[in-house]
Amino acid sequence: MIEIVQLTKRYGTFTAVNGIDLVVPRGELFGFLGPNGAGKTTTMRMVAGILRPTAGSIRIAGIDIALEPVAAKARLGFIPDRPFIYEKLTGIEFLRFVAGLYGQEGSAIERRADELMEAFDLTEWRDELVESYSHGMRQKIIISSAFVHRPEVIVVDEPMVGLDPKAAKTLKDLFREYTRRGHTIMMSTHTLEVAQTMCDRIGIIQKGQIRACGTMDELRANAERGDEGLEEIFLRLTGDNVGRELAGVLDG
Ligand code: ATP
Repeated sequence: MIEIVQLTKRYGTFTAVNGIDLVVPRGELFGFLGPNGAGKTTTMRMVAGILRPTAGSIRIAGIDIALEPVAAKARLGFIPDRPFIYEKLTGIEFLRFVAGLYGQEGSAIERRADELMEAFDLTEWRDELVESYSHGMRQKIIISSAFVHRPEVIVVDEPMVGLDPKAAKTLKDLFREYTRRGHTIMMSTHTLEVAQTMCDRIGIIQKGQIRACGTMDELRANAERGDEGLEEIFLRLTGDNVGRELAGVLDG
């Protein structure tokens, strides 16, 4: 479970995240949507404990991340949008290294790492240096590393970018199974189809504030337009100037 109360982040005088309240319960896959610069990555980095909030609080599995950062982060896996990866480790060494950061090693981790690499078609690259991996393969090893210590909560920024269709399907299945077992996922995405088909609930953030939050049915009911898809809801909530702006560009 993730509990966010009045979360705020300011950079100088600019407020990137402005008093967000949000609870993502156990077993939920929550989708975080918003236009470029809305505050998604800033929020997720605070939830992951790598960026200090200006105000507000965050609890991971009931543990306040500011008060008990090590205990909270032990229950968390984070997949950032621009991950750092050690090029001079092999795939399996990288997974062992990440598990080791969480104080985990031994046969259970070896088995888990091998299962994840198998699921993502990385087995034949297991002992190759990460520097030789393609963009998508790096993405897959990073995703695997977030799952390797079996965290209760996963925070993931734009997971589908760069994945081939099979890896995207594997990731969807992994997420679904993971939440079915009572874990929690908060995921940002720009792919509305991904959000609409995968997520239990969706939050739309704009200018650092949550504009709408709920299941697809709840979002539609709030919009009082029963047959709308997520794209229409998203564009209307976040300012549907797209058609006009495009026409302006094309008309010169
Ligand atoms: P995108 O969809 O483009 O990835 P986002 O919703 O993830 O966008 P953020 O990266 O959270 O948006 O950025 C929110 C706002 O905060 C933006 O206006 C950005 O310019 C600003 N911002 C982010 N990091 C910093 C920083 N270190 N210093 C100053 N401003 C920042």
